Amino acid sequence: MAESEPTAPSRLLERLEQGPVICAEGYLFELERRGYLQAGAFVPEVVLEHPELVAQLHHEFVHAGSDVVEAFTYYAHREKMRLVGKEHLLEQLNRQALTIAKEVAAETGALFAGDICNTNVFVADDASRRAVREMFDEQVGWAVEAGVDFVIGETFSWGEEALIALESITTTGLPAVVTLAIHQEPETREGWTPEEACKRLADAGADVVGLNCIRGPKTMLPLLAAIRARVDCHLAALPVPYRTNDEQPSFQSLRDPGYEDLPDGRPFPTALDPFTCNRHELGDFARDAHTIGVSYLGVCCGAGPHHIRAVAEALGRTPPASRYTADMSKHAFLGTDKRLNTENREYADKL
Ligand SMILES: [Zn+2]
Repeated sequence: MAESEPTAPSRLLERLEQGPVICAEGYLFELERRGYLQAGAFVPEVVLEHPELVAQLHHEFVHAGSDVVEAFTYYAHREKMRLVGKEHLLEQLNRQALTIAKEVAAETGALFAGDICNTNVFVADDASRRAVREMFDEQVGWAVEAGVDFVIGETFSWGEEALIALESITTTGLPAVVTLAIHQEPETREGWTPEEACKRLADAGADVVGLNCIRGPKTMLPLLAAIRARVDCHLAALPVPYRTNDEQPSFQSLRDPGYEDLPDGRPFPTALDPFTCNRHELGDFARDAHTIGVSYLGVCCGAGPHHIRAVAEALGRTPPASRYTADMSKHAFLGTDKRLNTENREYADKL
């Protein structure tokens, strides 16, 4: 990819000039569901243990319409690796995740993104400011060496931690997409409104700012309008595909009256199934968000390829997976095709 180096930093912005960019996220949840990653610590050891599965999921998301292959380095930072006793694998895991993503991006023509995220170390004192900057710098350094088109900094509930991540990225000259995680209260942990935090990020040089994770479509959308009114740069929205609501605005705050024996006392993270949005709801969200000026769209924890395809189609795209988009006209009982068995079609109301 050396020959593309001079133009590589602008590939994301070029794509955004042409129209919305779709970025599938949610690798942790999907690989946990498939049985290759442990809920709790949520460390992507699967990158080293089953690299072929990570590549496969990248391919599935691109097939479904993702314009971005995001290296699976979410929670592959020093603090998490230390927590699971595998700090010695930190660099190897990061480099491997970047190699996997780079190969899929090269094969498919998708954008290749590095990824850094919330450290869970930041507490707004000088020691933690230094510690998180070092953690970001080492991961961003590996991403630069791998030749990423841009770097995503995501899921920051502290606005200041997001700003430190941004500085780590912009120092390299690469474009930065920085998204905040807004929990039950519509503010960052230091009390900034989402629009205030996004304005600070935009002013500090982020190319794309916005929100990811934590909130579902219904409780993320209202925050986006306020951000749009405050910032001029590209805006990102990657909700979780769960039916959060005004009383329970985050996916951690959802409670399930239909099942009382949850091992963790709440549906998050392993029993969120009954709250899963259908693909049409994600399509609606993508359309609504794009209408108010969001140009970088995706889905976070809980996303499946069917959600990504719905986002792509809502934006007028026909990704390869659209070949298999539902066509009920030939359904044996519910279809309209004249060649279908009439008796079955007449039985449709009794299904
Ligand atoms: Zn997420």
